[in-house]
Amino acid sequence: MNNAEVAGILNNIAILLEMQDVPFKPVAYRRAALTITSLDTDLSKIKDLDSLPNIGIHIAKKINELLTTGKLDYYEKLKKKVPVNIEELITVPGMGPKTILKLYKELKIKNKKDLEEAALKQKIRNIKGLGAVMEQKILSHIQLEKKEEKRTFLIEGLDTSDEIITTLKKSNLVETGIAAGSIRRMKETIGDIDILCTSKKPKELMDVFTKMSVVKEVISKGETKSSIRTNKGLQVDVRVVKQSEFGSALQYFTGSKEHNVEVRKIAISKGFKLSEYGLFKNDKLIAGKTEDEVYKALGMDYIPPELRENTGEIDLAIRHALPILVEQSDIRGDLHVHSKFSDGLTSIEEIANYCKDVLKYEYIGLCDHFGGLKIANAMNEKDAAKRLKEINDLNSTYSGFKIINGAEVDIKPDGKLGVNNNALSKFDFVTASVHSSFNLSIDDMTNRLINALKNEKVSLLGHPTCREIFGRKPILFNEDKVFEAAVKYNKPLEINAFFNRMDLNDMMTSRAKKRGVTFCIDTDSHAIKHLDYIRLGLGIARRAGLTKKDILNTKEVSKIL
Ligand SMILES: [Zn+2]
Ligand SMILES: [Zn+2]
Repeated sequence: MNNAEVAGILNNIAILLEMQDVPFKPVAYRRAALTITSLDTDLSKIKDLDSLPNIGIHIAKKINELLTTGKLDYYEKLKKKVPVNIEELITVPGMGPKTILKLYKELKIKNKKDLEEAALKQKIRNIKGLGAVMEQKILSHIQLEKKEEKRTFLIEGLDTSDEIITTLKKSNLVETGIAAGSIRRMKETIGDIDILCTSKKPKELMDVFTKMSVVKEVISKGETKSSIRTNKGLQVDVRVVKQSEFGSALQYFTGSKEHNVEVRKIAISKGFKLSEYGLFKNDKLIAGKTEDEVYKALGMDYIPPELRENTGEIDLAIRHALPILVEQSDIRGDLHVHSKFSDGLTSIEEIANYCKDVLKYEYIGLCDHFGGLKIANAMNEKDAAKRLKEINDLNSTYSGFKIINGAEVDIKPDGKLGVNNNALSKFDFVTASVHSSFNLSIDDMTNRLINALKNEKVSLLGHPTCREIFGRKPILFNEDKVFEAAVKYNKPLEINAFFNRMDLNDMMTSRAKKRGVTFCIDTDSHAIKHLDYIRLGLGIARRAGLTKKDILNTKEVSKIL
């Protein structure tokens, strides 16, 4: 049982005790939980738990019982008295311990599902102290949460919207077509897809759209707007707007909501009115055809969609101080690619040709697994020698393109690498990554990463947090110390663009940039189509405000090796 789980149970005990009007004790349990959540060390490693602040001898005993048996008798008995899912219910607005108890006694509500059903049947409003307004609040909270659960990977949104827009354009009924919303802002997960088009024949366009092969269900069909659900369960809306309003509509539907609220405030302060139909002064259209025109009319520079989160971009746009964000064409190579020599699916030549001819790169870094990691079919020294010969043979046939002889190696729990430094001297580029022991204490994990960054053979820290979107939680380490080490040893941190990693994420990249860290955007490709994930990595970089000079693989090959 980890610290967070123990703290969660102590909090639940506090709630259960409050339900029974027990005085003082709930506060003590809450304080203890707070102490535990702010600890850097694993509880199991602390000998005298009652030496910790806010943890007395009684609570210490209970924590010990949890740590050794995974259960707590006292907690189980309390739960039997009110058998409800506290964790679920307590997060809903208005749901304090007393209300949960009341709802259980009067309506037998045990979980969120029961609560939603009762709200839909308008039963909550009759409970004393709640009323119709609270009932509505509860319902919209639960429904919003459900909507958020429906989010999916950015890549699915991009692929689906690309496919739809391409088909619509082929029909020759569309002049312009762009996916707005969180896809355009390159958020790591997306909900519904909003596509905006201009068309001279909107009615015919709606026919084509609603009959596409990706459509599983037509939700609604109108003359200028239709909604469908795809085979994969994504909702896609296509809207046709006037050419003269396309910019303001695109600005409106791109969001974010928070960004748009601020932009509208600025419009009002200047005596304008801004809506999806345009920027108006006394009902006269001032701007609307392009987004650029709208921002300019408001005294701002054009703000790239990835920055529109109301995190300071508006102020920068007013002061003409927005960063010049990195672009796809700035990327000269991908430094983390797997071939058949480890767990990749493709030959080195296929990868090189795609990078050279399609992506127009100047180099790739082959970082097949080396040593240690058996599950990923890591190379041994013999494989590596064989691969090097193939790399050299291919390189001799290229001009202006180079395959870099790299390797991906494990970082062991103590921060040493999975192979010794001597064995690494044959490689020109080494990506060091964590692939196991994800649950170290914060201190141990911090030291592990710092030791790897310190190692002179290491060129790059791969997928730094190891998180997987909708999957594995990030490993926990002291960010400030790791960023500081990356700067001190002059090692970039990877922005791993693999679709379910996207690691570092946008927020952490932005914080790292403020600390002077540099980055490398890689795809961690195991197949040709993965090489295109570079666009996801660029999305992260742009959302974090990175410029070309923040990124290693915008430099020429001689500056990398
Ligand atoms: Zn890896
Ligand atoms: Zn890898």
